[in-house]
Amino acid sequence: MVVDAHTHIFPPQVLAERQAFLEGEPAFAAIYANPKAPMVDGPGLIAAMDQGGVDISWALGFPWVKAEHARLHNDYLAQAVAQSRGRLRGLGCVHPPAPWALAEARRCLEMGLAGLGELAFYDSDLDLDSLAPLCALCAQAGKPLLLHTNEPVGHRYPGKSPMSLTTLYELIRRHPATKLVLAHMGGGIFLYSLLKREVRESLQNVWLDTAAGPFLYGPRAYALACEFLGPRKLLLGSDYPLLPVSRYRQELEQADLGPEELGQVLGQAALELIP
Ligand SMILES: [Zn+2]
Repeated sequence: MVVDAHTHIFPPQVLAERQAFLEGEPAFAAIYANPKAPMVDGPGLIAAMDQGGVDISWALGFPWVKAEHARLHNDYLAQAVAQSRGRLRGLGCVHPPAPWALAEARRCLEMGLAGLGELAFYDSDLDLDSLAPLCALCAQAGKPLLLHTNEPVGHRYPGKSPMSLTTLYELIRRHPATKLVLAHMGGGIFLYSLLKREVRESLQNVWLDTAAGPFLYGPRAYALACEFLGPRKLLLGSDYPLLPVSRYRQELEQADLGPEELGQVLGQAALELIP
């Protein structure tokens, strides 16, 4: 069973006229104003899954600033899931500081979406105050919250936010009951599991996904994440259409994981989180 825990689909309206969605949406513009930045809808994703041998994908939303964009996208996620014959799990998304964020997040879960994600702060550090009610909502519902994270150091790229591991760690500490999935290898926070005190325990309810990993880390990073957190905590995530799953399978093969570990990363761990 192969589960891709990090993909992005957009409503057909956004694919058809992405220019119309740029105004007042700086984060969307930063990533998608370039017409070469690929986007797909639900059927487009499922076609890629068929080609790449993926059974189930988590389809994530986008943290739109405008309420009408968020609603359009979240409604589309619910519809795409309903039409997917069991192939998609949808995660609703909101812009955490928006006054409507909590109500829209609740609506997403009531519509049957499987969690929240990819929540993100692309132009500032994580805002813990606005994330708090969303973390509480997910904890109460027993559903995961998938958060964009990235390394605080190293090369720059579109979508890399000025976030700090200090703030991320504080978020984790404040919400031990929330199942947090940290995208893009958690910005490297798992490496601090080597500390003798506190961190390993604090990361009990934290998962990582591999999204964009081939652009960021050598394959050894996947083996270390499995070793430090346990293989049930690392999820294959492709960030499709950024990269196809085949690219990750190549890198995971080079990571020298055992067959049991590899099975967890490729799908079993994600299935436990969202059946
Ligand atoms: Zn991301």
